[in-house]
Amino acid sequence: MAETNEAWFERASRVLPGGVDSPVRSFASVGGTPYTVASGAGATVTDVEGTVYLDYVQSYGASLLGHADPMVVRTIESVAKTGTTFGAPTRDETLLAEAITERVTGLEQVRFVSSGTEAAMSAVRLARGATGRSTIVKFDGCYHGHADSLLTASGSGVLTLRLPGSAGVPEGAVRDTIVAPYNVVPSLGEDVACVIVEPVAANMGLVAPAKGFLEGLRRECDRIGALLVFDEVITGFRLAPTTASELVGVVPDLWCLGKVIGGGMPVGAFGGTRAVMGELAPRGAVYQAGTLSGNPVAMAAGRCVLEQATADRYEALADRVARLADGLEAALLDVGFAACAPRHGTLASLFVGSGSQRLAAPRDLEQARAINGSGRYAGLFHELLARGVAFAPGAYEVLFCSFAHDDAAISRTIDAAHEAATALRAHDG
Ligand SMILES: *Cc1c(COP(=O)(O)O)cnc(C)c1O
Repeated sequence: MAETNEAWFERASRVLPGGVDSPVRSFASVGGTPYTVASGAGATVTDVEGTVYLDYVQSYGASLLGHADPMVVRTIESVAKTGTTFGAPTRDETLLAEAITERVTGLEQVRFVSSGTEAAMSAVRLARGATGRSTIVKFDGCYHGHADSLLTASGSGVLTLRLPGSAGVPEGAVRDTIVAPYNVVPSLGEDVACVIVEPVAANMGLVAPAKGFLEGLRRECDRIGALLVFDEVITGFRLAPTTASELVGVVPDLWCLGKVIGGGMPVGAFGGTRAVMGELAPRGAVYQAGTLSGNPVAMAAGRCVLEQATADRYEALADRVARLADGLEAALLDVGFAACAPRHGTLASLFVGSGSQRLAAPRDLEQARAINGSGRYAGLFHELLARGVAFAPGAYEVLFCSFAHDDAAISRTIDAAHEAATALRAHDG
């Protein structure tokens, strides 16, 4: 009997809660049954039924070169043959750390972990340890993984809202977390250990930093002696062969990295100056450790990606992403849907609202929510999927293009979007 997505998801749901290992994959917010991926190659994935999709998920940004890049695959094979984990120093971790630090001003040392969650959690612990303070400030709509103290959401941009964003997170765990609206520089108290921010927000759709926002955060942190943490788990080596900090010229005290730097393997990292990183054990008093940290396969895969990710390839990708964003916006407006497709370098996202006008790009979560409240994304998502184009199954995710998304792929996506919007319009009556 032929394999089906339906059967695999049912089977998965018996042994995996919700049938998945990460909630968004379940299609909970768009409805329907998720496709189960059998393989990927370049810009595409193929599901267990043999359907090929042009993939804009790309492991939520972990894949920059596209799936199963031949050089990365060869690297993984050759490293794996010599052992995959040792619990002792290897050359690979030093080589990747060198590759990262030489590309980012102010980033002198990194410690590798196995996920972005661990990177952000550890950076916050380090900031608290280094400053001897407890309070942390995050921004509404920014995602920093699922460590308790960072898992706070809020329905409004109220600065002092301190509600847990998940069952199982005790009030005490977020008591010292302040949530502020994105793109407004908060005025900080002297109890603040750190301000953590996505320098280009990419977890509420794409929300670019307003002019002066990041510079203002730097000044405000300096004024009270708090550390500025840039969570660049998405933006690091995604926008350019360096970090967003380098592009905007604002140097944080700590960086969180992940996704791209693992070459498709489970990796995260956090880093900063030698002085700050020196507070970590074994030299310093801030404990942090990991059995699989600095995993040689992941380190080598990440380095292989960075070596191939030259400035010209990012520039070419940014041009294609701009064409994609323009095309998506035009396709939706053409059939009478309110839309905007903000873009920032190689990142873009699509907002579909109520009404039929061109929308202004949102500046914070409240504005992003107001647009997504139309509920139109889900319909568009399914119409696109039916035409072989896989956007993320959630309205708050950005579009991840890989270097393998060529001009033809972009054109095909824009055509599919026009057809999808037309079909959706027909259903709407
Ligand atoms: C994905 C992401 C994380 C969490 O990384 P995981 O590897 O999923 O734990 C943290 N911060 C940002 C900005 C992210 O996009």
